[in-house]
Amino acid sequence: MTLNRRKFIAVGAATAASLSAPHVLADNHGKPRVVVIGGGSGGATAARYIAKDSKGAIDVTLVEPSRTYFTCYFSNLYIAGFTDLEDISHTYGTLAAKYGINVVHDWAVDVDRDAKTVSLAGGSVLPYDKLILSPGIDFVEGAVPGWSVAAQNKMPHAYKAGSQSELLKAQVMAMPEGGRFAMVAPPNPFRCPPGPYERISMVAHVLKQTNPTAKILLVDPKESFSKQALFEEGWERHYSGMIERVGPDFGATNVTVDPEAMTVDIDGSVEKVDVCNVIPAQKAGRIADMAGVTDGNWAPVNAADMSSKADPDVHVLGDSAQQGDMPKSGFAANSQAKVCAMAVRGALTGSKVFPAKFTNTCWSLIAADDGVKVGATYEATAEKIAKVDGFISQTGEDAATRKATYEESVGWYAGITADMFN
Ligand SMILES: Cc1cc2nc3c(=O)[nH]c(=O)nc-3n(C[C@H](O)[C@H](O)[C@H](O)COP(=O)(O)OP(=O)(O)OC[C@H]3O[C@@H](n4cnc5c(N)ncnc54)[C@H](O)[C@@H]3O)c2cc1C
Repeated sequence: MTLNRRKFIAVGAATAASLSAPHVLADNHGKPRVVVIGGGSGGATAARYIAKDSKGAIDVTLVEPSRTYFTCYFSNLYIAGFTDLEDISHTYGTLAAKYGINVVHDWAVDVDRDAKTVSLAGGSVLPYDKLILSPGIDFVEGAVPGWSVAAQNKMPHAYKAGSQSELLKAQVMAMPEGGRFAMVAPPNPFRCPPGPYERISMVAHVLKQTNPTAKILLVDPKESFSKQALFEEGWERHYSGMIERVGPDFGATNVTVDPEAMTVDIDGSVEKVDVCNVIPAQKAGRIADMAGVTDGNWAPVNAADMSSKADPDVHVLGDSAQQGDMPKSGFAANSQAKVCAMAVRGALTGSKVFPAKFTNTCWSLIAADDGVKVGATYEATAEKIAKVDGFISQTGEDAATRKATYEESVGWYAGITADMFN
């Protein structure tokens, strides 16, 4: 049977009714209802702040399929052995127990913005007054010819953390002596602008110790990349001769891969590799598209409250949002979530709403104790989230500064994950 959107909702509602009021449809005692889709950097923060600050006045449901959230932040460090997988894993128990958030482990499969309902894969239908979408990214199909999600076990992306990170790490550790690691980097805009280059650094770090004659091939369709001077200086200092970057001038905009043959074809030149990390072009998480709030790629939002330009009762946070000057980062998603939570609370309970302010810093580790950062503050204008001022680490900084920068990132990690989950 093919289900269209309305049929799906009707079937879901009927199923819910026949099960006589499943827990997700618990009586909300007339309270306003907020449904949050996606329990990551944006969604977990928004759910936590709305529930915490409204002190029970708003009924908050968080829909997230995974019981464990692995942060992408520090997942590159896991590949290098600087952290364990369990150190970057987080669960949702405290959000339920301490703040009364109704955590539902399921997929949202549709949004009916006329009826103001969210349908779940399990058949339930959740009514909302305000809907918050923070579903992260999905990959653009066909972006790297030869690669599809079906090939992710041969050529991992490791751009959603967890089993993909484990797989990529295992592949790097199993490389033959003097073998070759390749990365196909994504075009702009994408999740975590310095992420691919921190990963190159971390793979180089581990290979330098375990497999020092191995080589790294970075195939990059972009003219330039985040913190480029800092990364290139670090690669020369720590991993001289190991990393080769092929940019657009040398065919990196015309790349195909063959996961069976383990080859990368760069503008007709076929390279055999041992590990191939394909990070395809990205777009908003699919449910944002299904909700009809994207332009086909990303979801345009109003900067003042992160509400969708298509619907004032739907807010979009984090990577999925097209908001202006902020990079797609966990820090940014967390910052946007707090602005959104304040606005949603204000709209539903009349609490005071202050002008939106945003901050972001992206730290990257190049080698042990060699940390660098880039960051900025932002404000909401009528058009977008607009950068106010920024800072960036400098080339040639001394070792103590770099170590302090790395330590700052460790402190930030503890802070943001507590802000999301504790
Ligand atoms: C290698 C790497 C390193 C990074 N390092 C940093 C860093 O150092 N600092 C930093 O700030 N950022 C970093 N990032 C970026 C950061 O991880 C993302 O920008 C951030 O997680 C975005 O938050 P989000 O809420 O938009 O999405 P996510 O945090 O990805 O959360 C989305 C959630 O939505 C859920 N979901 C998706 N679809 C549905 C659906 N239909 N129904 C229900 N749930 C759904 C998913 O399961 C997921 O849990 C890094 C990213 C990568 C890949």
